[in-house]
Amino acid sequence: MEEKDSNKNQHTEDEYEKICYICRRSESKAGAMIQMPGNMCLCHDCMQKAFDAVTKGGMDFSQLQNMPYMNLNLSDFGNMKIPDTEIPQKKKIKKKAAESSGPQFDLKDIPAPHKIKASLDQYVVGQERAKKVISVAAYNHYKRVLHKAEPEDEEVRIEKSNILMIGPTGSGKTYLVKTLARLLDVPLAIADATALTEAGYIGDDIESVVSKLLAAADNDVEKAERGIIFIDEIDKIAKKKNTNTRDVSGESVQQELLKLLEGSVVEVPVGSNQKNALTPMATVNTDNILFICGGAFPDLEDIIKERLNKTSSIGFQAELKDRYDSDPNLLSYVTGKDLRTFGMIPEFLGRLPVVVTFGRLTESMLVEVLSKPKNAIVKQYIKLLALDEVRLVFEEEALSWIAEEALKRETGARALRAIMEEFMLDIMFEVPKDPGIGTVVITRDYLEKKGGPRIEMRG
Ligand code: ADP
Repeated sequence: MEEKDSNKNQHTEDEYEKICYICRRSESKAGAMIQMPGNMCLCHDCMQKAFDAVTKGGMDFSQLQNMPYMNLNLSDFGNMKIPDTEIPQKKKIKKKAAESSGPQFDLKDIPAPHKIKASLDQYVVGQERAKKVISVAAYNHYKRVLHKAEPEDEEVRIEKSNILMIGPTGSGKTYLVKTLARLLDVPLAIADATALTEAGYIGDDIESVVSKLLAAADNDVEKAERGIIFIDEIDKIAKKKNTNTRDVSGESVQQELLKLLEGSVVEVPVGSNQKNALTPMATVNTDNILFICGGAFPDLEDIIKERLNKTSSIGFQAELKDRYDSDPNLLSYVTGKDLRTFGMIPEFLGRLPVVVTFGRLTESMLVEVLSKPKNAIVKQYIKLLALDEVRLVFEEEALSWIAEEALKRETGARALRAIMEEFMLDIMFEVPKDPGIGTVVITRDYLEKKGGPRIEMRG
């Protein structure tokens, strides 16, 4: 505790510039200071002058401007009252903002939910509801963080809004979190739940996720404490059904995650995820860390369908049975009960109050992913070739073909880049060979291997 306080003091002291006792110039003007006993600082110039004077045969230090105390004992300083002189130690200059540790967090800096969503829209295609829910959750979370900084209002305690994301692979869960962290300028750690095991077993222990966040925050504890931790593949730590063996990577991992999710103080090694006697430790409070858990939850759709069909097969709704079989939004009907049936323990779900589902990307959405977002793959290739002064054009039909191919692979938008790379390789290899090429048009025929790309020469 005491150590923490002294760190704090040191931190505030560090915010002020040191001042040279002789020439009174500050650190920003005179350069780095030499620290002398008695909290006294000298700049390099004055130090050099002092040495020169001494080696040339003595010097009357009291003649130096503002240095009447130089010939006195340091212990006399406190009791002295010298007219027209000011003890320079008291005058402190705040260091320039650029030198402090990054942007200061302030409620004014947190954009309103509609602004967060508008920025997310520039990158993430579709998933409208998810973007809306996450914008509000993130806004509330950071408001809560700031609200807590004013302890006088203790009556209403705003609870944490940790988020559970459910959606098929390649639907943009990780991408949304990454974009959010970048927009809010907070550190982000992405961990994989499958690698986590109960403490003492082989694998990463739970606190390693906090270690990762600390590393992402350049080991700045304060910065890490308002970061985001994304735990992917969370469905893989569902409780195993009908098992007699000890469940070290399922239910017990959920149990151990509980305290992190709700906020606790953990000791984590700095710059490593292994605790040992040689690694320095840092204390991190997870209370203000936003936890987002994500997973594809295979079979969850069947659980939801079964529940819905059960209710609709009773009484007059009986004729509606099976109407959910081809419902693309089935996941969005998920309830806590379905997730419990899946194998998530109630306490765990209780600490993830915001549940949001992601839909499977359709063909037209995949075409948009290819070409619309700020850093869309198509835009990246266009830019690459533009550097060689070649215009690259994709026919609409060609984009649809890529989207159709991606749908077949069933890995959502993840497949897009791989497909693009497959056929762009030849283009990127051949085009720079001929400086006469002005435009390359990617046609559907080319992608279907029925012909080549359309080439137009310069001039
Ligand atoms: P997952 O849902 O499995 O976490 P990711 O977010 O990792 O999927 O998606 C993989 C890649 O696909 C992302 O890096 C991104 O480029 C692209 N992507 C996925 N979904 C979208 C989307 N809705 N909008 C834009 N790009 C997307």
